Amino acid sequence: MSQPFSRRRFVATAAAAGLGLAVPGAPAGAAEKAAADKPAGRRANRRKTGSLPAPWPVMDEREDQAILEVLHSGKWFRGGGNAVNNFEAAYAKLTGAKHCIATNGGTTALAAAMGALGIGPGDEVIVTPYTFIASFTAIMLHHAMPVLVDVDPETFLLDPAKIEAAITDRTAAIMPVHIGGNVADMDDILAVAEKRKLPVIEDACQAHMAEWRGRKAGTWGTVGCFSFQVTKNLCSGEGGAVLTNDGELAEKIYAFHNNCRARKVTGYNFFYMPTRAANFRMTEFQGALLTAQMTRLEEQTRTRDENAKYLTSMLREIPGVRPAKMYDGCTRNAYHLYMFRYNAEQFANLPREKFLQAMGEEGISCNSGYKPMDWKPFLNEAFGSRACRRVFPEGVLAQWHERCQTPKNDQLCREAVWLTQTMLLGTRSDMDQIADAVRKVRAKAGELVKA
Ligand SMILES: *Cc1c(COP(=O)(O)O)cnc(C)c1O
Repeated sequence: MSQPFSRRRFVATAAAAGLGLAVPGAPAGAAEKAAADKPAGRRANRRKTGSLPAPWPVMDEREDQAILEVLHSGKWFRGGGNAVNNFEAAYAKLTGAKHCIATNGGTTALAAAMGALGIGPGDEVIVTPYTFIASFTAIMLHHAMPVLVDVDPETFLLDPAKIEAAITDRTAAIMPVHIGGNVADMDDILAVAEKRKLPVIEDACQAHMAEWRGRKAGTWGTVGCFSFQVTKNLCSGEGGAVLTNDGELAEKIYAFHNNCRARKVTGYNFFYMPTRAANFRMTEFQGALLTAQMTRLEEQTRTRDENAKYLTSMLREIPGVRPAKMYDGCTRNAYHLYMFRYNAEQFANLPREKFLQAMGEEGISCNSGYKPMDWKPFLNEAFGSRACRRVFPEGVLAQWHERCQTPKNDQLCREAVWLTQTMLLGTRSDMDQIADAVRKVRAKAGELVKA
């Protein structure tokens, strides 16, 4: 297996994963930085055995062959070859969805789904605040308004009990996000949606292979959207997909992502759907790469799940560490992130930032995840734009801040700690080392506070 990246790059990638920040040449993770700043003698204290984070992305001859086949065919876009079509069929089969439409990203998967659902200027979409910014930007792209509904801090997921109070006559959809691969409460969310006749858009960009009551996440809502960006559990650099069981909607999504051209009829006789549209097509290279990557997906998912369960059994015994809970209906967590809440009071009041740093010095890279959304600068620009002022009644814009207070999310953002998915692809003894590091940091927390 040829690995083009250095270990340093892997650490950077792992640290940025989930933040959507895996930029080549990004600064190394906290662990590496801390080590680099230390004299060699101290650096020798770092964990020498173990293999975390695991190399990512994973590749071998399967990927070489897949890419070269497309390359030499000269059929590089989906209209020419069959790599994207084959991937769509395989992903639909794997997830049990009737239809799959591949896109060039997760953000564009969300945007295509919303476009096909007719979500547009002046609409409101109910969404969780504990998510990657793309959940919001995809809504804003349609000049619709993200309306934040607070989280259940135990699970890090949208609190279904708070949805109904946020619904207005402008509400056009509900968007739960299966953050970190943990599945939102689809029973309660679908019950509200059905009662209020609203479509559900599952942002499953972090939840490949996750399950709710034995059926794949992303197949419960009206649509389910996935990302194959390089940090995600299934990846092709960039890429995305929309799943749906609604055949008519699938054709609209296809047309939306293909400049309003419906599926090819014959030759150049396209049927143009009367809809807004764009080109969000996946390339054949991505389709071929994803089909190769999919051959490892089940095994990787099982490894993460087994390691995460073992890690939870150890971490939940440590006072001050509370792993994210799952709802009863979540029969499989995809563990794109391993998330827990850190209670500094149980660590001699050691601030979270110092805890993360100390973990890094023990050789375990972890991070603090999403910051509480400070929408003020973004809103002043976006909602203050000429287009938004034309679209939204003044009162609606003025009330946004008050409606979208999410104190539970703010608290969660102050307490959260993440390990990214590549930390779960190691061995059982790697998990022991993570738990050991937490115990060690706790034991010397009093000392570290004074340092
Ligand atoms: C990654 C991600 C997206 C966006 O996907 P891209 O492929 O980066 O456009 C959307 N939502 C969530 C929750 C994500 O993690």
